[in-house]
Order: sequence, then structure tokens, then C-alpha cells
Amino acid sequence: RAKAAGGARTWFFDDALRTELSGQAALEDALRAGLVAGELVLHYQPVVSLQTGGTRGFEALVRWHRSGHGLVPPDEFIPVAERSDLVCDLGRWVMAQAAGQLARWRADGTVDEDVHVAVNLSGRHLAETTLVADVAEVLATSGLPPHLLVLEATETVVLDGPAMLPNLHAVRDLGVRLSLDDYGTGYTSIEQFRTLPLDALKIDRSFIVADAPQDVALVGLMVHAAHTFGLVVVAEGVERPEQVELLRGLGCDLVQGYLFSRPVPAGEVPALLRRTVVV
Ligand code: C2E
Ligand code: MG
Ligand code: MG
Ligand code: MG
Repeated sequence: RAKAAGGARTWFFDDALRTELSGQAALEDALRAGLVAGELVLHYQPVVSLQTGGTRGFEALVRWHRSGHGLVPPDEFIPVAERSDLVCDLGRWVMAQAAGQLARWRADGTVDEDVHVAVNLSGRHLAETTLVADVAEVLATSGLPPHLLVLEATETVVLDGPAMLPNLHAVRDLGVRLSLDDYGTGYTSIEQFRTLPLDALKIDRSFIVADAPQDVALVGLMVHAAHTFGLVVVAEGVERPEQVELLRGLGCDLVQGYLFSRPVPAGEVPALLRRTVVV
């Protein structure tokens, strides 16, 4: 491609590419060092029951307190981590951290005994041979009942990697639960709900924010399909009270979004749980 561009432009593209690649490598090195140095933190966003208004669980979302850069959101460093095994180190750290945190909240009575924690795993880690051992170790170390650990995989990741299916079955056999994240953005046919080892479906935010009648109808279809296969339905990105009304009417089970709380540091969770949520 550089050749086709010809002449002086070849230099332009090569330089741009080189700068881009060395920038990514530098970011990857900084992230690896940051993970070791304890610069990563998890924030927790409540998952709320549409029936009771109670907090049924939390999603753990990673952030990077990068020295000199402030708080870096995951979209800016997960793609770089995914270029190498670093994303597996990250996944192990996130799982251990989240499971340990929930175990402590259970021990000190901060949360009810059926409250879960969900973590996001990258496709690369889900396909990794160490995945099952990684999950087993996190369960053993934290002592967390397996069903309270939820692993989220994005729809596109699950579809792109049929090779990871045995892994998904194996971790589910450990008793952890699996949730299909960002649902509706990929092309999962409803028929696949039968074969994928899933417990929950998270409808992508883009369907929740849209108010067009077609989108509402689509969400209704997703809820119906998910329930047909015994899956719990979570709607993400709920920001307005009207969306709660709509989702309740469509039979959605759980909701998550800024309306209830932004993701917060672990220290703010006890105060969050003392609030009364009206749904
Ligand atoms: P996700 O798993 O779909 O997480 C939901 C994202 O939506 C989070 O962004 C959350 O802060 C945001 N969100 C929640 N409620 C609302 C709302 O009402 N309105 C709006 N506009 N946004 C809302 P965040 O924390 O920036 O994470 C972005 C993505 O990064 C996540 O999407 C997930 O795919 C990935 N990610 C986060 N943590 C991890 C991790 O530990 N490991 C991996 N591999 N990926 C992660
Ligand atoms: Mg998620
Ligand atoms: Mg999502
Ligand atoms: Mg997402």
C-alpha cells in the first residue's frame, strides 16, 4: 500500500505508521509497569432489580491511574493490552481483585449474600489455555461461591471464536456464570442461545438510548428470546426514568446505568447501598 501511494507520500505513511506503532509499544510497556506498580483500580457500577429496586450485583470496570495522565478509561488501553498476553495478566488481576472485594463485602455485611460481581474478559483471555485454571484459582483464593462470579464476554468475541467454546463450557462447569455483553451489536442468531453456555444477556446501550418504536420493539424481542432460553436480561446504559418504565413493561429483569449510579471506587459502595432506589 505504501508503494502504491508513491514518492514522498511513502515516507509520510511509513513515519506515521512507525510513530503509531512505537506509541502503542510505549503504552503497552507503561501499562505492564502500571499493573505491577498498582496503578490500576476497579470501579463498581450497581446492577439493579427492576422488581425491587435492590442492588443485585456490581459490574467491575477497570481504570488506570497513569502517573502524569490522570484517570485513563479502559477504551484507551484495553485494545493495546489485547495485542499481547498482557490482557490475560490484566484479566487475572481484575478477576482476583473483584472476587476478593466481593468476598470482603460479604464478610463484613456490606452486601447481601446473593449479590454478584461481574468482570469483563477479553476474547484473547477467554481463548487462552490457562483460563480455566485462572478462574479456579480466583475462586479458591477468594473463597467466593462460584455462582457469584459472572464473566462477561462481548457478543462479537464469542462469535469470532468458536475455538473458545470448550473453555466457556469448562469455566461454567466450575459454577461461574456467563453473560453475553453488548448484545445486539453482533449477529448472534437466537438459535445460538441454545448452544452457547449462557446465563445472562446484556442488551447494548445503543438500543436503550434510542426511542424509535422499532428499537423498543427490538428490545422486546430480545427480552422474549432470552427468556425463552432461560436467560436473565440486563439493560445497560439506563439514564432516564422513562427508560425504566419502558424496560419494565418489556419484561427486562435488571438495569444498569447512570440513572442509578456511575461506576464508583470500592470505598463509595457502602454509601451507595444505603440509598433508597425507586424503580
Ligand atoms: P461494557 O462492559 O459494556 O461496560 C459498560 C460501559 O458503559 C462502562 O464504560 C460504563 O461506565 C458505561 N456506562 C454505564 N452506564 C452508563 C450510562 O448510563 N450511560 C453511558 N453513556 N455509559 C454508561 P467503561 O467503564 O468506560 O468501560 C468501557 C468498556 O471497556 C466496557 O464496556 C468493557 O468492554 C471494557 N472494559 C472495562 N473494564 C474492563 C476489564 O476489566 N477488562 C476488559 N477486558 N475490558 C474492560
Ligand atoms: Mg461489561
Ligand atoms: Mg456492555
Ligand atoms: Mg462495551
